[in-house]
Amino acid sequence: MPTFVYMTSCDGCGYCVDVCPSDIMHIDTTYRRAYNIEPNMCWECYSCVKACPQHAIDCRGYADFAPLGHSVRVRREEEKATISWRIRFRDGREKNFVSPIRTTPWGSIKAPSEYPEPTAAAMNSQELAHEPEALKIGALPALKRDQLKQGLV
Ligand code: SF4
Ligand code: SF4
Repeated sequence: MPTFVYMTSCDGCGYCVDVCPSDIMHIDTTYRRAYNIEPNMCWECYSCVKACPQHAIDCRGYADFAPLGHSVRVRREEEKATISWRIRFRDGREKNFVSPIRTTPWGSIKAPSEYPEPTAAAMNSQELAHEPEALKIGALPALKRDQLKQGLV
């Protein structure tokens, strides 16, 4: 479900613009408010919903589960670290979902810029950034030759 902005709630802070991975949240130069320039290109990641301090961003329900007369409201509550969804069907039924935004305290995860720069050898490694430490499983598991199907190697 792509997002849209309630321009009367938006204060133009630009957090959604900074966080959007699809670069489709823009600030309207006349009204100084954010808007989704291309809903078809929305990843539906809801990073903008989680980032908006004004609760100004909402999403459009797809016609197959939310036909005319529906509403889908989403609310981020930073103090509770939750994101809540309220779906109202056109026959009046309502469903509410609450999910944690994160499972660790705010500020407890180091930003990429706080890690030392990767070495040239690390750039050629198969491991992703901060692996294997970030996985907290010690060394990465690897198949041994005797575990492979006979005849393949
Ligand atoms: Fe961008 Fe994700 Fe928001 Fe879509 S849901 S506008 S991709 S941040
Ligand atoms: Fe507007 Fe919210 Fe985006 Fe800030 S984060 S520009 S208040 S929609």
